[in-house]
Amino acid sequence: MAIITCPGCERDVWDGEEACPSCKYPLQDSTSKYNLELFRKLKTRLVLLSTVAGSCLFALLIAMIRPPADGYGIPIATVGLIYLVTLYVRIITKRNLADIE
Ligand SMILES: [Zn+2]
Repeated sequence: MAIITCPGCERDVWDGEEACPSCKYPLQDSTSKYNLELFRKLKTRLVLLSTVAGSCLFALLIAMIRPPADGYGIPIATVGLIYLVTLYVRIITKRNLADIE
C-alpha cells in the first residue's frame, strides 16, 4: 500500500482503497473510461449548489425567527423559490454524478 493523490479531489489517499474516502472517486477504476473532467465539474457544481441552498435556508430561518415588517414578503418568497430550485438542480446533479460513478 502506498499513498497516492486522488485525481478527483487531490487529497492523499491509500492506493488500496476502492474509492476516495472524501470525494468517492473510484481509484481502482481510474484508468478506464471514467470522465474525470465531468466528475470534477459536477462536484464543483454540487458544492456551489449546496452553498446557495444553505444560504437560502439560513435566510429563511432568520425570517422565521424574526418575521420582517410588512412589504418584505416578496423577497422572502423569492428566496424560498431559489431554495427549492437549487434543491431540485442539486438532486439532478447528484443523480448525474451517481450515473458516472
Ligand atoms: Zn478524492
